[in-house]
Amino acid sequence: MDEILHDDNHDMNDDISGIQVDDRLKKTMFDLEQHWLAEYMDARERLLSTLTEKMHAEFLSDQTKIRNELLAQFKDELESTKKDLEKKYEDQLKSEVTKVVERHKRETSQAKKKQWCWQCESEAIYHCCWNTAYCSVECQQSHWNSHRKFCRRRNKDGNNGPGPAGAPLNQQ
Ligand SMILES: [Zn+2]
Ligand SMILES: [Zn+2]
Repeated sequence: MDEILHDDNHDMNDDISGIQVDDRLKKTMFDLEQHWLAEYMDARERLLSTLTEKMHAEFLSDQTKIRNELLAQFKDELESTKKDLEKKYEDQLKSEVTKVVERHKRETSQAKKKQWCWQCESEAIYHCCWNTAYCSVECQQSHWNSHRKFCRRRNKDGNNGPGPAGAPLNQQ
């Protein structure tokens, strides 16, 4: 085997050129290795760059998606809160209106029950006769001249006259 191998080597190259070829081969292989390494690094760099870009784009897209989802969620919550508040205020307003209406009814009914001084329009406490009442004896006296013709109250003698003030309303 040694003999054949030696013969082959010997056939193709002499010893000196054999060393040269060997060096050249080594250099070629080294160059090739460097070239492949450079190509590999280059390809790796491109791939990494592409991946990075893709991931960045995906990240941005995810960010946009998340942001839109959050915005939509926030908008929904806002709408819901707004509806709740509107409902709450509507209820409060209704309740306030009801209270005011009821108070008004109460006051009106109380006002209707009250009698008012014929003379000065203050609340009356003395009743004279039908539809005629006064806040004070003074008002009754001042009104007497015009009222005497219409007064339905009679004094003890059967004559109408101012006489004593009518009984206080709460005694009627
Ligand atoms: Zn009066
Ligand atoms: Zn009267």
